[in-house]
Amino acid sequence: MKHYNYIIIGAGIAGTNGAISIRKEAPEASIVLIGEEQYPVYSRVNIGKVASDAKSPEDLLLKTEEQFQAQNIERIITRVENLNSQNKTITLDNGEILAYDKVLVATGGRARRLSQVGSDLKGVFAFQTLDDAIGVRDYIRDKNKITIVGGGFIGIEFVELLSNLGKEVTLIIRDEWYWQGMIDQIGGNIINEYLAKRAKIYYESEIKEIRGNQIGEISEIELNSGEIIPTEAMCVGIGLELNKDFLPSELCNRCLKVNQYLQSGDENIFGAGDIVEYYDILQEQYIGSGTWAQASLQGMIAGYNMVHTEAMKEFSLIPAYCPKTSLAIAFVGQCRLNPETMQSIVIEQGDRYVQVNTNADGKIIGGVVIGDSAYMGTIRKWIVEKLKLDEIITQA
Ligand SMILES: Cc1cc2nc3c(=O)[nH]c(=O)nc-3n(C[C@H](O)[C@H](O)[C@H](O)COP(=O)(O)OP(=O)(O)OC[C@H]3O[C@@H](n4cnc5c(N)ncnc54)[C@H](O)[C@@H]3O)c2cc1C
Repeated sequence: MKHYNYIIIGAGIAGTNGAISIRKEAPEASIVLIGEEQYPVYSRVNIGKVASDAKSPEDLLLKTEEQFQAQNIERIITRVENLNSQNKTITLDNGEILAYDKVLVATGGRARRLSQVGSDLKGVFAFQTLDDAIGVRDYIRDKNKITIVGGGFIGIEFVELLSNLGKEVTLIIRDEWYWQGMIDQIGGNIINEYLAKRAKIYYESEIKEIRGNQIGEISEIELNSGEIIPTEAMCVGIGLELNKDFLPSELCNRCLKVNQYLQSGDENIFGAGDIVEYYDILQEQYIGSGTWAQASLQGMIAGYNMVHTEAMKEFSLIPAYCPKTSLAIAFVGQCRLNPETMQSIVIEQGDRYVQVNTNADGKIIGGVVIGDSAYMGTIRKWIVEKLKLDEIITQA
């Protein structure tokens, strides 16, 4: 059985940065980076530019195979089927077993699929990988009527990309307004207005069935309301399912839980990127990952900590996310609203819309800004300084 000092599972930005960081700290160690996708790490956040043909797939690549070879980081392109924490081994797709001293889990998530009849027709796309983007680009070239499903980051970016290409765009969302779970209705109306210039929108709508033509291509969608939408292609952005099936259930229930050092309940297993929920020392609670910056920095710190277990560094970062839209929108800190534990208050609603989110003690833990994304720095500062709502209102 082949043995490595460090095995990294998942070769996105978190896993790749983990491997590079380990190599820097442990020049002699044996390292293998295992990933399912055929490409070396690429800018996942920009795959929309490939779908809209503004960039080539090669433009997005962040590393070459030669660079990994030069750093003596072995690459295996395959799927990991199992991690056995007792034996300290992993099993690859072909049945081969590899042994590790330490392992970094950085497997992110895959796009959630629709379950309705017809969701496997040609022209129905999920959107998570470079291959998805290439598939969309090639398919929509000669298509005009495109439907987008989902009220999140991918949906809104797609509306802008495809409407800029001159496509006739339809958007289907479940909620009464866009990002209803994150933005108050006043902010939601600003987003709705922006979207209405680019797409025909069906709010509070669910898909009943997707139908195809004689050659198995999508041709129309029926909503629960009975309305029929003629459609030549469909892009689905309804969230992520984490890639955790290969992990022992005692370590990974909803996601891989790690401490502030990105170390899991097993001292030899570390985690980074979208797959983890980490203990945040600033906010004094576990928070989920889901941004490029978190994944990137977590990879670096996890790699460092895997080598220096006696002097580990803490990871802490207030996450921020700005969708790539012409309307400036920024989410900072905790934004998924939970009415039982959080309150959200709109403190500005003129040219600039500012919503702050507080915990039960009134401490600021997140916020949303529309119309001035630079202002997210101010919200971030409030979170770091652990200010309460009445303190910032006094300051203002
Ligand atoms: C279209 C799009 C736009 C985005 N835009 C933004 C943005 O503007 N700003 C922002 O902050 N974030 C954005 N994100 C989110 C950001 O891309 C992710 O947070 C980040 O890529 C997570 O990195 P990761 O390394 O944790 O996981 P991933 O990038 O998902 O990489 C995980 C890798 O592990 C592989 N893998 C999974 N399971 C296995 C297995 N069992 N065996 C082997 N390999 C496996 C996967 O194939 C994948 O290559 C966007 C995401 C998408 C899809």
